[in-house]
Amino acid sequence: MAEEEAMIKWFPEIDKNSVSVVGGKGANLGEIYNLGIPVPPGFVITARAYSHFIKENNLDEKISNLLKEIKYEDTAQLDKIAEEIRNLITNGKIPKDLTEEILESYENLGAKPSREGGSVEDILGENEEIPVAVRSSSTAEDLAEASFAGQQDSFVDVKGKENLLNAVRKCFASLFTSRAIYYRNKKGFSNKKTRLAVIIQKMINSEKSGVVFSKDPTYQNENVIIEAVFGLGEGIVSGQITPDKYIISRDMEILSKKINKKKIAIGSRNGEKIKVNLKEEVSNSSVLKDYEIKNLAEIALNLEKHYKMPQDIEFAIASGEISIVQTRAITTVKKAISESEKKELKGEIILNGIAASPGIESGKIRIVKKSEDLEKVKQGDVLVTKMTNPDMVVTMQRASAIVTDEGGMTSHAAIVSREMGIPSVVGTEEATTKLKENEIITVDGYTGKVYKGKISGEVKEKIQPVTAKTRTIIKVIIDLPSFADRASKTGLKEVGLLRLEGIIAESGKHPNYFLKQKKIKDYEELIFRGVEKIAGYFDSLWVRSSDIRSDEFRELESSPENKEANPMLGMHGIRYSLKHPEIFKAELNALKRVSEKGKKIGLLFPQVISVEDVKSVKKILSEIKFPEGKIGVMVETPASVQIIRNLCEEGIDFISFGTNDLTQYTLAIDRGNEQVQEIYNEMNPAVLNQLEYVIRTCKKYNVKTSICGQAGSKKPMVKFLVEKGIDSISVNPDAAKEISDYVQSIERSVSGHSSNSNNQKRKFNK
Ligand code: PEP
Ligand code: MG
Repeated sequence: MAEEEAMIKWFPEIDKNSVSVVGGKGANLGEIYNLGIPVPPGFVITARAYSHFIKENNLDEKISNLLKEIKYEDTAQLDKIAEEIRNLITNGKIPKDLTEEILESYENLGAKPSREGGSVEDILGENEEIPVAVRSSSTAEDLAEASFAGQQDSFVDVKGKENLLNAVRKCFASLFTSRAIYYRNKKGFSNKKTRLAVIIQKMINSEKSGVVFSKDPTYQNENVIIEAVFGLGEGIVSGQITPDKYIISRDMEILSKKINKKKIAIGSRNGEKIKVNLKEEVSNSSVLKDYEIKNLAEIALNLEKHYKMPQDIEFAIASGEISIVQTRAITTVKKAISESEKKELKGEIILNGIAASPGIESGKIRIVKKSEDLEKVKQGDVLVTKMTNPDMVVTMQRASAIVTDEGGMTSHAAIVSREMGIPSVVGTEEATTKLKENEIITVDGYTGKVYKGKISGEVKEKIQPVTAKTRTIIKVIIDLPSFADRASKTGLKEVGLLRLEGIIAESGKHPNYFLKQKKIKDYEELIFRGVEKIAGYFDSLWVRSSDIRSDEFRELESSPENKEANPMLGMHGIRYSLKHPEIFKAELNALKRVSEKGKKIGLLFPQVISVEDVKSVKKILSEIKFPEGKIGVMVETPASVQIIRNLCEEGIDFISFGTNDLTQYTLAIDRGNEQVQEIYNEMNPAVLNQLEYVIRTCKKYNVKTSICGQAGSKKPMVKFLVEKGIDSISVNPDAAKEISDYVQSIERSVSGHSSNSNNQKRKFNK
């Protein structure tokens, strides 16, 4: 067989010019293997092998014909054809000669001596069914490697011949996901000609892993940056673990080490991902030893020199040995780091919690245990409390920073402090017992740490105006009229979520009060004034009818007396509104009045669980003669996901993902309970699958999709949603600039061109 006809190539036979044979990722690994970089040994099933597989299964013509039928802008049809092609491939049989070559190579991999001449372990491993990583490597190189890393499937910890062959077939099939077909077409790559090679590599049982940037990806300086966690590197990508961060100068001096509390590590057992809780001393210890830091930095500089481009390198360490599993040119967006982020605070850490709102501020401790304590909080003090609630909002505005015992990223304290731009650290568990009244502390809302005394040089997070042009519309989240001005500094013109609860809480009265006192008109007026004030700064607003959880609003006058055992599952949202039509109508009437003043108002309904909910809403809208009110459903219960098709058929205009609640209800994790925050993760596949399904379904019905949960301000979620084709994203004002820049960069890499539509000029809603 001629050289280019080879169906298997070992790393020593591959270099960077082998893209058409072993795909982009394979070529890269071969290239660095031959440079002497420690790469886990392996071989590649070549693109030629893929063609052989396709030919022997008579799939060539079938796939071509199916590809010809595709209408690229018809998502449903594209999905259907993509699935058909994938089924053809996964049901195909790997030809006998190829099977033999793959299995023989697999056996050899178990026995293959390492580059240094082999070890006893290698020899003993002969014919052993070793665990391997099976990774796709597409010949449409820049698609697979640069912007679309991870587009095709990869599998870790694959063991045994049958599993290996199945994984190879699955990799072949993953060349035809809808997304890959769509983007190849958009980028001008031939779907018919693109082929897939598959990398088989000895599995590294990572004790530690992470990423090295050969140059600061934010281009602030020339230093090498390493981020590392215990276990697999997945924890970094998904944002579940805050990695340790090391900075090394180009002449190999370790300039700084930032050791974060890792709490958990992600491992793998029999191909399944597992989470391991780390012991306190491990969790607080440095992941990397000094010699490992230096070795990694040296490898990074070598790779950068070789490729003549700064590199983004993934590494794993097992039994003290470093392995490099991937390297690619840095594609990270240039991002301005705020002064405070750059700075490592030096001081005594007295408390750790969840970094809920960015910024660093110092002040005198004021512990608030009951409402009477509120007045002792003076301008510039640090408000320390078990958990904030809405009647603290006025006091919170005076505080320089906020620290709580309880809560997570979606708790009241977190949401409100972000809106106000006040640094906050939540879920510390012991702030009210450990901190002492009157003492001075510094609260670091970037890292979740609280320091003794005043630490100089603190800065307050400023709103930066949005300049990016994006196809995905960026909207802002706002709850408090007095902070509308601040939010408008983003330059954004659309509000993606206006919660009425802020306006209600500022009055100090529960809606029940207005009902009981027969002053429902006053309630309407209160809502009208509040929304009108916010509307003065924006062109269009999606306003949510009230969603008042009984525990958070207990302090308001005339709030219900009965204590609910599970307020998250209790009488709030649309079920409360439909039970109290007068209150509901007052809110809708207020919004109707704002809309009559020329503002575009979309109505968002929270906690919807049935089509009946929407039917009842429509009935009320026609009763109050507000039929033109656009109807939006908060998709925040698993029920609303399950019935999304029926909701679309009933007729709605838009949906917005309330991921704070959707995550809580899907994972059965209380979003407000700090003890379970480590596993509260919006990126859990159980949540992501629902988001993807809803977007897909809504597209079929031309119902616009958006997100207004906290996750819309987090990059991994934003990337996921933009790639799935969400129409808009709502962000906190202080995240607006960073997220819109990020969206722009994703859109550019996805479609290969920048958007020319100015997001401010997009047509409202439909
Ligand atoms: C959500 O659940 O994601 C949401 C935006 O609503 P809230 O945080 O007010 O429950
Ligand atoms: Mg919600």
